Amino acid sequence: MTERPIGIMAAMPDELQAVLEAMDDTTQREVIALREFHAGRFGEQPCVATLSRIGKVAAAATAATMIQRFNVRALIVTGLAGGIAPDVAVGDVVIAEHLIQYDLDTRPLFPRFEAPLLGVTHFAADESLSTCLRQSAARFLQNDAANGVASASRNRIRLQQPRLHAGLIATGDRFVHGERSANELHELLPEALCVEMEGAAVAQVCHEHGVPFAVLRTISDRADQTASIDFSDFLSSAAGLYARAILEGALPLMPRA
Ligand code: SAH
Repeated sequence: MTERPIGIMAAMPDELQAVLEAMDDTTQREVIALREFHAGRFGEQPCVATLSRIGKVAAAATAATMIQRFNVRALIVTGLAGGIAPDVAVGDVVIAEHLIQYDLDTRPLFPRFEAPLLGVTHFAADESLSTCLRQSAARFLQNDAANGVASASRNRIRLQQPRLHAGLIATGDRFVHGERSANELHELLPEALCVEMEGAAVAQVCHEHGVPFAVLRTISDRADQTASIDFSDFLSSAAGLYARAILEGALPLMPRA
């Protein structure tokens, strides 16, 4: 029997491109539901990588295909996010411990944020996968992050000494780009480190299927009024570098099937 692969999902084409460049043997492809799934390896680790596209529905559908069609034994989500907690800056890395759908609200039928009929608000990421991401991210941030980003873009995106965080990630179907909405989100969920649009949707699908998962996010913006400019700058100058280096370090550390 062939070894079950680890699935890797990226929301943006630039990032998927970087992931594919870091993978070996990416000769097999299959198109399902407008998505191209690329089989390959990170070192000895068999993987399948694809573009999830943006948002909760797109991410959930992709996760279900990864599990049902490719029989992945774990899922890794990589992507960008807006910093919400005060000390989470552009260029930092956040590894999820838990994820919450901050826009899910079926009160008074169910408690706020709870996935109806599941009884879960905070979906827990797999500890052993997350530890591998943390180890690799810590090494990357210490040694290469600032050096890898060309100095011109480093000043433009104000990259200083990037830091690693682990904690709660907030997911919702909205690109948060205003001081007010960022502050509102911080008040709603004071412990949330950052905001993005896919993580908790993948977490729910993985929870339902009993498949372990981990989420890796690089902070591209502060979800404020300059978020869309900062996001685009970061995407073109640094996102691929981060995703590639951290996954290249982490995937070989992850336990084999
Ligand atoms: N106009 C952009 C849209 C990108 S949406 C484009 O070039 O296509 C932002 C993506 O990065 C999503 O996949 C989301 O998960 C993440 N993200 C980064 N910053 C975010 C923010 N401030 N709010 C919500 N999601 C964010």
